[in-house]
Amino acid sequence: MSTPAAQPNPHASAYTPPPWTMPAPDAAQASGSSAHPGWHSGVLACRICGAQPAAAVTVRAHQGLLLMMRFHKIDGPFCRSCGTALVRELTTKTLWQGWWSPFSLVFFSPFTLVWNLLASRKLAALPTPGPPAHGASRIQEGKPVHQRPMAYVAVLPLIWAVWFVTGMITHA
Ligand SMILES: [Zn+2]
Repeated sequence: MSTPAAQPNPHASAYTPPPWTMPAPDAAQASGSSAHPGWHSGVLACRICGAQPAAAVTVRAHQGLLLMMRFHKIDGPFCRSCGTALVRELTTKTLWQGWWSPFSLVFFSPFTLVWNLLASRKLAALPTPGPPAHGASRIQEGKPVHQRPMAYVAVLPLIWAVWFVTGMITHA
């Protein structure tokens, strides 16, 4: 059964689209659109600076101190610059704060470091981000993790682990 609405419109030949469906190529420039050049809708934009392209990644940090443990994560999407800055910051934090409880040493900190490594590889695969959105600023990438002295605190639990395992073997 067809409904009356499905019948041909007698006024179809006289139909003209309403003004709001007409293409208006000059409207964006004339109104001073907030979208900056190179911005594409439907592509992820950085949560911090608004630039594109961005990847949906989560960056983590872990803190372990005797019986107290803290899990910190920041969800994206992030552009390559902001994401790399966060990975460096939170990885360095984990490398010096992440080892001081047994579960952290054995499980949570290694997991956090591997997680951030995978996130950084995803971010490194992105092209250079476009300019930051109007009014937004980008996080400075800063030095790589291996150039941050605090990262080398991680050597201490490593030495301890080697000493502990060596002790177990020689006393067995
Ligand atoms: Zn960004």
